[in-house]
Amino acid sequence: QKMGLNEIRSKFLKFFESKGHLVQPSYSLVPHNDKSLLLINAGMAPLKNYFSGTEIPPSKRMTTCQKCVRTGDIENVGVTARHATLFEMLGNFSFGDYFKEETLKWGWEFVTEHLNIPQDKIWVSVYLEDDEAFEIWEKEIGIPKERIVRLGKEDNFWEIGTGACGPCSEIHFDRGEEYGCDNPDCKPGCDCDRYLEFWNHVFSQFNKDEEGNYNPLENKNIDTGMGLERIACIMQGVDTIFDVDTIKHILNAVEKMTNSTYGKEYKVDKSIRIITDHIRSVSFLVADGVLPSNEGRGYVLRRLLRRAARNGKLLGMKEPFLYKLVDEVIAVSGEAYPELVEKADYIKKVIRIEEEKFNETIDKGSEILSSYIEELKAKNEKTLSGENAFRLYDTYGFPVDLTKEILEEEHLEIDEEGFQAEMEKQRQTARDARGNMDSEAWKEDAIAKLDKDIVTDFEGYETLSIESTV
Ligand code: ATP
Ligand code: MG
Ligand code: MG
Ligand code: MG
Repeated sequence: QKMGLNEIRSKFLKFFESKGHLVQPSYSLVPHNDKSLLLINAGMAPLKNYFSGTEIPPSKRMTTCQKCVRTGDIENVGVTARHATLFEMLGNFSFGDYFKEETLKWGWEFVTEHLNIPQDKIWVSVYLEDDEAFEIWEKEIGIPKERIVRLGKEDNFWEIGTGACGPCSEIHFDRGEEYGCDNPDCKPGCDCDRYLEFWNHVFSQFNKDEEGNYNPLENKNIDTGMGLERIACIMQGVDTIFDVDTIKHILNAVEKMTNSTYGKEYKVDKSIRIITDHIRSVSFLVADGVLPSNEGRGYVLRRLLRRAARNGKLLGMKEPFLYKLVDEVIAVSGEAYPELVEKADYIKKVIRIEEEKFNETIDKGSEILSSYIEELKAKNEKTLSGENAFRLYDTYGFPVDLTKEILEEEHLEIDEEGFQAEMEKQRQTARDARGNMDSEAWKEDAIAKLDKDIVTDFEGYETLSIESTV
């Protein structure tokens, strides 16, 4: 029998408990006293102060399964096999206690002896200059050097915003040629899904300050992150994280609710996967107290919710339906995350109200778009101006792909360039408002990609550099 996702989670936490780690429950998705981050996007994020030494941890060794949201990955959802906006990250942490050798050896032990993954399917990557990690993998653990690759900063140097950071080493699973791509040099680090990265071990030995300096830490730390959905995908021998037992349960409900069939047509599948993913992130965000709004994390939530609703419309849904899927999320995740159970009714209510609002937006937008179409026809023109398309999108929140679709039905089109120019104008305004606060964390957190009302979210930036470093 295949190992379920929930079982893998307990196995991991027990394993590191047996290695002297204190097991802690997941922290909230909403960062506590950390203005450099919009939402928790890694297991280490809520522990930053333990790494930097500004706070004393309850134990020098800790292990967690942390809920994470990465809106930076939103475009990948439903497209790659491995990206979700909400995922669980398993991690073991050392605050100035053990370092590289222990974590890599334990990682290897867990993967090969407790999960029984065949050794010859495993590849690892190390940071270009990190000979020490290379040697541990090769000499002490015994991985042939052909399966150890050296990668650059992009892949093998970890940092989010300010705080602890350093080189890292990633563990990959070779899913075989059939998952490969055309690249003759396809190996870990390639963008395709053949070598599935599932566990990152970070040797956090620097503290990055707000000026971008890397200051060596007195105590060297270990911070690791293993994507639970990804390791479950490997353990269950399935194609994508959407085929993992828990997520598949939700996906099946989406399929049924929308009266569509999964596995036949790419466009339909993608919509089903997007709804499946987004209803998870939305449920977890609301459970942690985030409410839909036009700024910050509230905007992230609104965007996820509307994107899911929009994909429901593509599948023919007329009435609010997302809120009815919350029970399916709870069915598979409620035991590990009791806050979902406690707030079930509240979560459903928040989602339902937002779905209703979105429907009104669609109605209002459709009305305006109809009037634009009539004008075009009266003037015998074929192209909706970039300005009008942008106004629909920006002022009324009307999805641009919907505008395109409706125009197409009338054999009309959008002035793409004009629209992009308007978008760029707005991005520039946002950048100006953001000033020189251009950290990785904000890139990761949707801000750069947000497509509406983002300029309102910048109160508090002035104080940012001061408050986030103490
Ligand atoms: P990728 O290169 O595949 O985008 P990453 O290098 O960005 O992954 P890390 O920041 O190293 O990922 O995070 C640690 C682990 O968390 C990854 O090895 C992976 O197992 C998991 N993970 C990261 N992003 C996602 C995601 N969007 N969905 C599911 N799991 C993820
Ligand atoms: Mg990534
Ligand atoms: Mg990576
Ligand atoms: Mg990584």
